[in-house]
Amino acid sequence: MRVGIPRSLLYYKYLPFWKTFLAGCGADVETSPLTNKKILSWGVEVAENELCVPVKAFYGHCMALRDRVDALFVPRVVSVEERAYTCPKFLGLPDMIAAVANQLELPPLLTPKLSQREKPSEFKWALINFAQDEFGLSKLDAVAALDAARRAQKRYQESLVAGHKPLDLLPASRLNRTRWRPERTEGAKRIGLLGHPYNIYDGYITQNLIARLEETGAELVVPEMTDHHVLMNAATDVPKQLYWTYEKEIMGAINHWTENRLVDGVVYVLAFACGPDSLVQVLIEHRARQYKVPLMALTIDEHSGEAGLVTRIEAFTDMLMRRKKPAAVA
Ligand code: SF4
Repeated sequence: MRVGIPRSLLYYKYLPFWKTFLAGCGADVETSPLTNKKILSWGVEVAENELCVPVKAFYGHCMALRDRVDALFVPRVVSVEERAYTCPKFLGLPDMIAAVANQLELPPLLTPKLSQREKPSEFKWALINFAQDEFGLSKLDAVAALDAARRAQKRYQESLVAGHKPLDLLPASRLNRTRWRPERTEGAKRIGLLGHPYNIYDGYITQNLIARLEETGAELVVPEMTDHHVLMNAATDVPKQLYWTYEKEIMGAINHWTENRLVDGVVYVLAFACGPDSLVQVLIEHRARQYKVPLMALTIDEHSGEAGLVTRIEAFTDMLMRRKKPAAVA
């Protein structure tokens, strides 16, 4: 069976896991192309207007795979740790895609429910049952596919912590690659690039933001370079516990960077109409102010233009170059 993985949303976090697991189940895995004008237009046309741009792009990626695969992999990712949730959009994604599947003539959807909210073994059994039900695997083979997937994901995460970006490791991510990088100088500024991976690494949605920042000579620091447990610990330094794991990672990143003076400035990419981001944005801005770290928030949607982005990046990086180091926080 040819199974399609849309190159959007949690693709950037879990592709090694999903691809290895599905291959272990005997599937031929296909991924959709990089986001482009056609893909985003498809998504914008069919998705509800009030959805965030990465979810709209996800619809377009399903369309891009429509004639190439026998089934689309659209898991319901409820929770990736105990007593926490992902964004509500990830819980409802299979329903949202199923609602337009007939109209768009999409192939059947594979929608395992992945949750670790009560205990981590929920996740393991959901995938073993999925492999048995959908692919007819024996329990032994399903466990072997799961183990191989875990090893692939671990290797991916270790490479990220070692300093690679998802774009260096995921297949065919050329668009957001830096074409030209100036010599690194003494005073090169370190910019923390904050946001969900599907926003910051989708070069079409963010108008090649990573390349544009690196081409200013800045050194980029991204949340994936820090071990997940370090981010989670750093995220506890907020007045109230956050229930969304991915928002906790973002909050943990800025807390870790500011506490350890790892960045000279922060660019925070958030999607228009994103509920979770709009809540943590207030905490992030407060943290940046408290530690006197300049922060530029870039809100993206399907209408984001290139000219405005370039001007804002230039103004922000110029300001960082002229700025003296602030005194330590008392
Ligand atoms: S966290 Fe925000 S940007 Fe991400 S899927 Fe949810 S609403 Fe969209």
